[in-house]
Amino acid sequence: MSRIRKAYETRFRHLLRQARARRLEEGLQRMLRRAQALSSKDGTSLAEALSHLDRRLTAALRRRRSVPQPAPARFFCDAGLGGLARWLRAAGWEALWQPAIDDDALIRAARQHQAVILTTDSMLMERRLLRDRIIPAFWLSPALGVADQLAQVFHEFGLVRGQPRCMACGGELRPVEKEALRDRIPPRTYRWLDEYFVCARCGKLYWHGTHWARIQRQLGRMTGS
Ligand SMILES: [Zn+2]
Repeated sequence: MSRIRKAYETRFRHLLRQARARRLEEGLQRMLRRAQALSSKDGTSLAEALSHLDRRLTAALRRRRSVPQPAPARFFCDAGLGGLARWLRAAGWEALWQPAIDDDALIRAARQHQAVILTTDSMLMERRLLRDRIIPAFWLSPALGVADQLAQVFHEFGLVRGQPRCMACGGELRPVEKEALRDRIPPRTYRWLDEYFVCARCGKLYWHGTHWARIQRQLGRMTGS
């Protein structure tokens, strides 16, 4: 728990600074006490109470800014958010991800690709380029599962689902005549399905079978669309 509490402390400091709070540490302690009170009143976990306060303060700040956040062209997920990158791609969004990428390389790559950084690392949000919004970034609580992470990103940027992309690499999926893929399709699938897609980037083969349908259903639940 202390890891999550620590992450929220850094996060709340960041939000209070953005809100130009005069007594930062006092404000922070007040928020932590409120989370504690909320958690014992509603019987929820402290992590949930912290997440609730984070969403409220973020929403209040967004209203104050009054400029709506445009939907970004692409995202760059930090090393720990590989699962989120896969689901964003399935939902039609370009999401870059590299395992074990360090902070400096991540910032450089996001800048180069004009991508919004998605991260659970509240210390990363304190880096000057991110704090000054030179590189746009969005913080996600390390307490969230991938379904809630995806829902929050959709909510924050007002995203809608688009044409699914390759979950493995994010490449575009192109329809291909099934005859051309005969040796790659399991014989039983070949008999009952006619539509096949190949990733333009990595060559991975996809078809709208039961696995595909399961992913689409799950995506619907995760994004509420
Ligand atoms: Zn691919």
